[in-house]
Amino acid sequence: KSPPPKELVQKRKFLKRQKDKDMFETVEEVFDTSTLMAVYELMRRGVIGELFGTISAGKEARVYCAKSPEGKDLAVKIYLTNTAEFRKGIRKYILGDPRFEQIANRGLRRLIYAWARKEFRNLKRFAKAGIRVPEPISVYKNVLVMEFIGENCKRAPLLVELAKPENKLSTEEWQKIFDTVVDYMVKMYQKAKLVHADLNEFNIMYWQGEPVIIDVSQAVPLSHPYADEFLRHDIQQIRRFFSSVGVEVPSFAELYSKITGM
Ligand code: ADP
Repeated sequence: KSPPPKELVQKRKFLKRQKDKDMFETVEEVFDTSTLMAVYELMRRGVIGELFGTISAGKEARVYCAKSPEGKDLAVKIYLTNTAEFRKGIRKYILGDPRFEQIANRGLRRLIYAWARKEFRNLKRFAKAGIRVPEPISVYKNVLVMEFIGENCKRAPLLVELAKPENKLSTEEWQKIFDTVVDYMVKMYQKAKLVHADLNEFNIMYWQGEPVIIDVSQAVPLSHPYADEFLRHDIQQIRRFFSSVGVEVPSFAELYSKITGM
């Protein structure tokens, strides 16, 4: 019988080191060796201490709760490197963005690494512009580590969840959230010079009395050929959602002019 291949040995060694065995049984099914090694590398670098359960399992990425070696909560977003949807889903955002066009033509894996780095950089750019986002901590290959929005691995609610009848937010509270989101949109456009391009009640969390913008990987610079189209769509999504929770939203034209300053 021949010895197991190097990859498998590495993988077994990696798995043996994990404290939370159940967690890695789940992770092992979903991810390839290269992804496990990337998580391992972030542990070696002292970014991640322990990895815990799944917060979200989407088509393009999975989000886990983790702890830093100091015991601070972290969100670890791992992009899947093996789905056709992923490729289709992100192409329209990457093509036309001079920062990523070149990369887009190379291999899928590298494309996904670039996508993770793009989310990291967009988070930085948003934060610098004064928009509340999860603080980006580290990115390595297809693994992005950021501030956990929530407490003790219990994530904060999304606006869509906050809108459920049992949460009963007053119109005044919704109005305040709306005003903040519009303020963020102004800052995104005028300071960060990016359009989120997927802004809606599923990509805004609510934590400590403030909306927090998430899922910024697809955000594009204002020079992107579809930037204006994406912005118009974002505005419509935000108008639709906030009017559904009772906010008297300004007209599209008014919002558009406020956000773009034109
Ligand atoms: P996807 O592209 O898979 O939708 P998201 O970035 O939207 O990825 O994250 C998916 C889900 O994971 C979110 O809806 C939210 O519930 C959770 N999540 C994402 N980022 C964080 C974070 N920083 N802290 C806590 N939960 C998060």
